[in-house]
Amino acid sequence: MNKPLAVEIRSSFDVDAVRADFPILRQQINGHPLVYLDNGATTQKPQMVIDAICRFYSEDNSNVHRGAHTLSDRATEKFEAARKALADFIHAPDQREVIWTRGTTESVNLVAQSWGRKNLQPGDRVLVSAMEHHSNIVPWQMVCAEKGATVEPIAVDENGCIELDAFRSMLDERVKMVAVNHVSNALGTINPVAEMARLAHEAGALILVDGAQAASHWMVDVEAIDCDFYALSGHKMFGPTGIGLLWGRAELLEAMPPWLGGGEMIESVSFAGTTYNQIPFKFEAGTPNIADAIGLAAAVTYLNSLDRDGAIAHEKALLNYALEKAAAFEGLRLVGTAVQRVSVMSFVLEGIHAADIGMLLDQQGVAVRTGNHCAQPIMDQFGLDGTVRASFSFYNTFEDVDRLFAALEKAREFLL
Ligand code: PMP
Repeated sequence: MNKPLAVEIRSSFDVDAVRADFPILRQQINGHPLVYLDNGATTQKPQMVIDAICRFYSEDNSNVHRGAHTLSDRATEKFEAARKALADFIHAPDQREVIWTRGTTESVNLVAQSWGRKNLQPGDRVLVSAMEHHSNIVPWQMVCAEKGATVEPIAVDENGCIELDAFRSMLDERVKMVAVNHVSNALGTINPVAEMARLAHEAGALILVDGAQAASHWMVDVEAIDCDFYALSGHKMFGPTGIGLLWGRAELLEAMPPWLGGGEMIESVSFAGTTYNQIPFKFEAGTPNIADAIGLAAAVTYLNSLDRDGAIAHEKALLNYALEKAAAFEGLRLVGTAVQRVSVMSFVLEGIHAADIGMLLDQQGVAVRTGNHCAQPIMDQFGLDGTVRASFSFYNTFEDVDRLFAALEKAREFLL
């Protein structure tokens, strides 16, 4: 492993100890030790998360908020403690502001369908960046089509950065919502969401931040960003699939109508008229995903136990090492070259289709994502139908980077 000295000095994070917490990493794929570089799609789960879910079903399983027995009390206590853990994790001032959802997609749809249907008028504008994931475009298109409002893209430059001047000049009194990702899954760009929140608020608009790709890389602080809504997916931050959250300011959530109707979200039901529960329950119709909320709280406990500064420095060193190798790799073109970025490397290889590369890397045990990354508009802007995306996490090693490039070399020899 020929890692540069600068990297060695910067990275004292104990990656071997961390890897030992992730059982899935200890396996062979197609006869090679697994190199998992698809963390943007979903992260792996530490044993602690797996155990928390197993323990819940083995010892505490019951429905929440409704039983008159010990198990139900225990399940409710753990479920609400999980909400508190997530509220603390994102610096939410009030745990009632944390609504459990299935993930970022559902969180954005909740705001679009509840806030949007109530507040958007014909002629109103919703601004989204040109590098949004489809889940932060399509829900807005759906509600805007219904309400006679428009969804307009904020320009992104050739490096993959939001053009702040263009954004500033778009803002007027008809802009009611700005919806932007904290980190682009396709390019890795970290967006200036705090600055965008300030500008949106000055113009009288609200801002929703899609944080799906942020919480796996650093500590999210919704108060510091000063946004109005923040969406997260548990599975992208070392927790289970099928659970995530929407954080929203209490006064906004309280003024929003419920989206899904059913049990739990009501105060009383009668044919003369139904009244609704308080937040957050007003937005949590039906039996929630109790076990995975508890699993997600275990992921947060795990993250809090890590040397996060060390993890951030390690990821940065991995990215820099990968970028050095990329610069020396003939025919490789990076897609997304923002200075402010997470450990994501999106690229194309001249003359080779991304899907073919993905397949040949998998044969060598290297897992990457290929395709448009559910971000077709930005791919169109770059004139591509897809890229290869290697997304690193703190459990990746310099050797993983070496393996990626060795596998790319072989794939190129095979295909060209
Ligand atoms: N936004 C971004 C930036 C994402 O990367 C993703 C997942 N790729 C989503 C939203 C959607 O997340 P989920 O599928 O967990 O709802």
